[in-house]
Amino acid sequence: DFSLARNAGDDMQTAVLESAFRKPPEERVELLCVVRSLLKKIKRRVLVGDRVLVSGIDWTEKRGMIEEVLDRTSEIVDPPMANVDNLLVVFSIDHPQIDEKVLSRFLLEAESTGIDFTLVLNKIDLVEEKVVESWQAKLAEWGYKAVLCSADRKLGLRALTSVMKNKVTVIVGPSGVGKSSLINALHDQSVLPLWYNTEEMQEAATVSVTDTINGAEVSEHQFAEDFEELRVGEVSTASGRGRHTTRHVRLLPVPGGVGLLADTPGFSQPSLAKVTSSTLAQLFPEVRRRLAESEGGGCGFPNCMHLGEPYCAVGDSWERYYHYTDLLEEVRTRERVQKKVL
Ligand code: GDP
Ligand code: ZN
Repeated sequence: DFSLARNAGDDMQTAVLESAFRKPPEERVELLCVVRSLLKKIKRRVLVGDRVLVSGIDWTEKRGMIEEVLDRTSEIVDPPMANVDNLLVVFSIDHPQIDEKVLSRFLLEAESTGIDFTLVLNKIDLVEEKVVESWQAKLAEWGYKAVLCSADRKLGLRALTSVMKNKVTVIVGPSGVGKSSLINALHDQSVLPLWYNTEEMQEAATVSVTDTINGAEVSEHQFAEDFEELRVGEVSTASGRGRHTTRHVRLLPVPGGVGLLADTPGFSQPSLAKVTSSTLAQLFPEVRRRLAESEGGGCGFPNCMHLGEPYCAVGDSWERYYHYTDLLEEVRTRERVQKKVL
């Protein structure tokens, strides 16, 4: 969605990509863009979800050149995306059953991004109501309220679209829980891809002839190279996948045109890479609540690790305490190894 900001007295057209989700699909404009070589020189990758300044727009050919990447509100590596402002953490209540430690990892990874997220329990069609209720009670203890749904029976989809309203959403969760099914169920209605897939991009790149962008001649060869660069930018290098894998991310409008949803699920392995031994505890709602509710506003010792120190406001009487201590051990081990390497 390019809302035009034409610079007066400047024949260069500048467009700002902003909040594409605010417009219905038929009012959106798609431009096939190359990335300015200067951006590549300073290793500024353009990510799906980025807001960019575009120049040299050819409205007939629907092409342009990305001049600048605007500041990001968030950045995630799996899938590689910018400006994500909503995560759906999806688990299935059965087939596969919930592994509580894996669920904790996903929740902690989500907490560590600082991005708003919603826990989703899928496949509720497979279990009796009392199973759902006992999970709700458990999750309430943990500090979470889940949205219940079934991609199969199309249950709870309206509740999901309402948490996705006006947001850029990525669905995350372990394999087999129904992430792809949910993405498909949500897109059963009309779908307008905002991001071209690789094949389309390459074709577009090679059919283009010599063009003038910003007064400079851009050869067909250069144009194709630019596309190659953009294509590589779309592939997650952080996840260790090679440049030839076809891992595209596309942002698709949420039905009703009120948001954007990435078509690629993420966080396949929550590494907790950003979590340190001193930040871990704060990622548990149980800990945050206990600290907030304590008299004197926290533990006796300022850097209390909540491992039985005197005057600890957190203590060990919460269900996920052992998730905390196990993960603390894991994070500390990683920190020791990192220290040795340095
Ligand atoms: P993903 O790996 O998380 O993307 O999971 P998929 O979407 O591939 O789904 C894995 C399996 O679960 C498929 O066989 C789906 O048909 C099935 N499935 C997905 N959602 C539901 C659901 O709500 N109910 C039931 N019974 N099965 C589902
Ligand atoms: Zn403490």
